[in-house]
Amino acid sequence: MRRLVVVSNRVADLTKSSQSGGLAVGLADSLRQRGGVWLGWDGKTADTSENLEPVSKQIGDVTQIVLPLTRQDYEEYYLGFSNSVLWPLFHYRLDLVDYKTVYLDGYRRVNARFADALMSSLREDDLIWIHDYHLLPLAAELRQRGCKQRIGFFLHIPLPPPEILSAVPRHRWLVESLLQFDVIGLQSQTDLNNLQHYVEQHLSSTMTGDGRFQWGDREVIAGVFPIGIDVDAFVEMAERPNDEVLIETRRREILGRRQVIGVDRLDYSKGLPDRLRAFARLLELYPEMRKSVALMQIATPTREEVEAYVEIRTELEALSGAINGRFADFNWTPVHYIHGTVPRDALAALFRSSQVGFVTPLRDGMNLVAKEYIAAQSMDNPGVLVLSKFAGAAEDLREALIVNPYDVDDMARNLCRALTMPLDERQDRQRALMERIRKRDNASWLNNFLATLEHSKSPPPLD
Ligand code: ADP
Repeated sequence: MRRLVVVSNRVADLTKSSQSGGLAVGLADSLRQRGGVWLGWDGKTADTSENLEPVSKQIGDVTQIVLPLTRQDYEEYYLGFSNSVLWPLFHYRLDLVDYKTVYLDGYRRVNARFADALMSSLREDDLIWIHDYHLLPLAAELRQRGCKQRIGFFLHIPLPPPEILSAVPRHRWLVESLLQFDVIGLQSQTDLNNLQHYVEQHLSSTMTGDGRFQWGDREVIAGVFPIGIDVDAFVEMAERPNDEVLIETRRREILGRRQVIGVDRLDYSKGLPDRLRAFARLLELYPEMRKSVALMQIATPTREEVEAYVEIRTELEALSGAINGRFADFNWTPVHYIHGTVPRDALAALFRSSQVGFVTPLRDGMNLVAKEYIAAQSMDNPGVLVLSKFAGAAEDLREALIVNPYDVDDMARNLCRALTMPLDERQDRQRALMERIRKRDNASWLNNFLATLEHSKSPPPLD
């Protein structure tokens, strides 16, 4: 088995056995088995005067290499090009793209530093796996330094159609850099189609049916590798009694009330304002739902130094206040809005005790919350997933109630349908969805990607 070298913007803490994200756990386990290297930023910003050399630490068979960023790197590479240009662009939000040449300079500079830090640690037969939009040009930087190893890339976020991608300056450079990888992994068929269209329209190359195309003297494989969760671990967590959640659930049961739950990072791609409006519309269209259902929306703050994130927070706080002002009674509050993080075990228990999982991103690479909600349900009395058609997960989770996240009435109607769905239909849907998330779990994602990268196989077909 070849040694694995993982590169991502942030390094996971390899000393901990369980991380908050299933992805980091899966990758860390794989690294421990094969031995290898994980390189990334340590989350700290250093003064330019400080030492910016990478720092290596050996943890069992894994070498962790961390790079500090300067404040300028952080502003230009991380907040700037990654999160004010690529994130909105790749989520189809041209209106929020804030392009500046210094951001691009910072992005290239940090990618070059990642490449410098990695080169001296590489062995001839290493497999290199680079993650996400922060590091699109890293393979190109490595190739310039003579790297001949196989390099794979996985894009965790969506890839937009060429009409959107080509609106950003230097888009051709971005995609040509991407083609220096041997394997490009994407979340959904939509993303793969978009890449194919770009490559055909702007680079005059053609992709064959099995995702291969010729670029210069190299063959690149592009494929769909839908990311999944560790289903058994989540099921186990959801089944474990959680006293605090249990007390709340009992109280609701006594009052004959149901709960709709939404859990997201507080990001404009998650469709939160229209989700809240849809809940208000439910109360308007179906007055019998008043006092019998509440929405719990948990929103974790993120990237608060970017202006667009400050705006979405203000908008949501105003909206939840307005809905509560309009509908609340002395003993019922329709929207329970939590600006914060909830521990994972409580989250799993909350999913299990909520009758509807309401997941309505305007655009999402995959959306793991949708899969976690399914994993948390009990077969005796499962809840219903209401899912945006623009989440990557919707390509697979067809037994969810699929909605248009821009259509408030459509979401309200489907919420009502979910809340009144007979038990046998809920069980049929749950059975099918559970099978789907098991088939595409985090282990199969990892194994399929690594097999494609290692053996230059075509990606496994999706059914
Ligand atoms: P994204 O990667 O864009 O944030 P995903 O839905 O794919 O979206 O993954 C989010 C992960 O973070 C999930 O595992 C989810 O449980 C977790 N998460 C999101 N919001 C919260 C929250 N408010 N509290 C705790 N965990 C959260």
